[in-house]
Amino acid sequence: MQTLVTDRPEEAASWLDRGETVAFPTETVYGLGADAFNAKAVAKIFKAKGRPSDNPLIVHVATPERIGEVAAEISETARMLVERFFPGPLTLVLKKRDSVPEIVSAGLPTIGVRCPSHPVASEFLRYCRHPVAAPSANVSGRPSPTDWKTVYHDLGGRIACLLRGEPSAIGLESTIVDCSVNPPRLLRSGAVSIESLRELVPDIEIATSCKPGEAPKSPGQKYRHYSPEAEIVLVEAPQESLPLDPPAAWIGLAAPPAGATKSLQCHDMDEYARVLFGFFRACDAEGIRTIYCELPPDEGIGRAIRDRLAKAAGRG
Ligand code: AMP
Ligand code: MG
Repeated sequence: MQTLVTDRPEEAASWLDRGETVAFPTETVYGLGADAFNAKAVAKIFKAKGRPSDNPLIVHVATPERIGEVAAEISETARMLVERFFPGPLTLVLKKRDSVPEIVSAGLPTIGVRCPSHPVASEFLRYCRHPVAAPSANVSGRPSPTDWKTVYHDLGGRIACLLRGEPSAIGLESTIVDCSVNPPRLLRSGAVSIESLRELVPDIEIATSCKPGEAPKSPGQKYRHYSPEAEIVLVEAPQESLPLDPPAAWIGLAAPPAGATKSLQCHDMDEYARVLFGFFRACDAEGIRTIYCELPPDEGIGRAIRDRLAKAAGRG
């Protein structure tokens, strides 16, 4: 299959409306979309990514008003969160409408819904006839793509169309809150922080990530995620001397330890989030064997960075 690379949202939407898969930019990471009401089209996403069929997809809508096209019920709490955080990097899990094909929710009675704030994503979604089911546009298990070239590297030749845009401004996947249960539960951390969610919903619970042998709280939690080829070593505090095993890389807020083959010192946590997955990929391309990653403070987007680092290290 030839992958058409385009800058035109309208052209990309016409491929999607014809039942094809389309990768598109969002503020979190790049997504791989298909018409959420076309089960055959959605099946192509699972095939292109090599994604396990019991891992549900998030449905993307052009405007908050269109949530009702896929969700049967929007609780009062969900309404408050929509008002405050949509459009933006927050996914809500709600009761699903029967008309949404089972393949999208992996058989669950609920559906994850998000309304991206990225202008190109919004324009693309407005041109699409239906809401768009879209996981991240990477081969399953690899770090999510934050620029169009990485999408092309992973999925070129396996998807119909790639809508090109700027690199993703946030760089980590959306925060997910399950509003189908009471009290609501945080299933995945992201740029919308637990602190800001609690300002609105003080009793929100944090789902502990899945431990081996335990039933996963969120279906995606049981899979290895966000992983580069290189080994990930988590470093709690900045350390002057680390016994590096070269070729080794460093990423963090502190200055790199002596002897690092490759390094990236971030100015703040937003930058850390934005560059992390690209750094993992660059390390793999350069044959780095071990990546030493500083664990940032466990607050704001730092919680999401720590979560992705733990998962990449195989401890999630
Ligand atoms: P991604 O692969 O980054 O698009 O993220 C999709 C993730 O969203 C899945 O792996 C699940 O963890 C979560 N998710 C999507 N839909 C649901 C749902 N109905 N209930 C619980 N979690 C969901
Ligand atoms: Mg993903």
